[in-house]
Amino acid sequence: HDTAGRETEVVVIGAGQAGLSTAWALARQGFAPGTGFVVLDAEPRPGGAWQHRWPSLTVGTTHRVHDLPGLPLAPADDGLRVREVVPAYFADYERAFDLPVHRPVRVSAVSRTGDDRFLVRTDSGDWLADAVVNATGTWTRPFVPRYPGQELFRGRQLHTVDYRDAGEFAGRHVVVVGGGASATQLLGEISQVTSTTWVTRRPPVWREGPFDEDAGRRAVAMVEEAVREGRRPGSVVGVTGLLVSTPYIADGLRRGVLERLPMFDRITEDGVAWADGSSVRADVILWATGFRAAVGHLAPLHLRQPGGGIRMDGTHVAGEPRLHLVGYGPSASTIGANRAGQAAARQLRRLLHPAAGARS
Ligand code: FAD
Repeated sequence: HDTAGRETEVVVIGAGQAGLSTAWALARQGFAPGTGFVVLDAEPRPGGAWQHRWPSLTVGTTHRVHDLPGLPLAPADDGLRVREVVPAYFADYERAFDLPVHRPVRVSAVSRTGDDRFLVRTDSGDWLADAVVNATGTWTRPFVPRYPGQELFRGRQLHTVDYRDAGEFAGRHVVVVGGGASATQLLGEISQVTSTTWVTRRPPVWREGPFDEDAGRRAVAMVEEAVREGRRPGSVVGVTGLLVSTPYIADGLRRGVLERLPMFDRITEDGVAWADGSSVRADVILWATGFRAAVGHLAPLHLRQPGGGIRMDGTHVAGEPRLHLVGYGPSASTIGANRAGQAAARQLRRLLHPAAGARS
């Protein structure tokens, strides 16, 4: 492999919230940019997955993007698009801390070398590293469940990642599948221009009041337990429910758009059908059915458990203190990624630079 001159202590894969907060923390822990750590990111530009969010997702309709450590995001108008605001912030952040981000570099495989290091293979040369922090998020792995008849459907099927603008659905009946924030947000927009049907596997959990810290901790603890046992992590947001006072949800409830039907049993040429004989005609099926962790490049390490997940111990893979997953499971939120990035960097400093003084 071509690894000439490409050795470093820590390779961070991904430059979203998780990768950048880890990079910042590694620098603080004394890792030198370049020889101590590099960040490899598949995107052509800064911004992580935020640069791909649909254009109508604005600062005002996003739940809350937490500041990265060390440089606050300047207050932005509610009407601005997050796909512009957040990438501009990440670009400033990378510059302000001189973070060694290499892009566009896509990691294809991570494997172990004979001398117990990691070989990180990419589409532009390989890297050798003592430790790896994987921070690749989920956006590149949209999840669409399988239903009988799916291939018969003559209309259009798309996933949240393909959504651009409600206008393209005008005059067509749209079935939106999924019980999360994306589903309710897209329903809110699409129902302004055309008719919709909402289907979810489970009845939505409506939450009246703001989410208190205790409930937040309980939700994170549930996901933590799942990944400790090697089960596939559910989303933290999925556990917390949908807040009825959120403007787009309040509006959807008032307009009757959020009347939900149970999940259909099969898909037909021109719609969806239930086992009891009922059916709904559809021109479009929009799968707002979430994502999986983008960890295909870790396959050579054989981490996958029978439960479909990776067994974790805090931020590192169980039994693998030099392989951290930040933004995975309980840290798959902007605040969780910040905390996990800092925890991972502290642990790597203790492991790789045991003589260096402690830093918080
Ligand atoms: P990403 O931002 O996805 O960054 C991962 C990076 O890794 C990308 O740049 C990607 O290109 C790169 N990458 C992937 N694979 C490879 C590879 N093989 N090689 C090299 N690079 C690779 N969370 C909140 O806390 N608040 C919110 O308001 C919020 N809103 C959301 C809205 C939507 C529509 C969605 C889908 C999610 C939202 N989330 C929100 C969750 C949010 O995505 C995460 O909290 C956070 O942005 C994830 O950061 P990340 O760094 O883990 O992933």
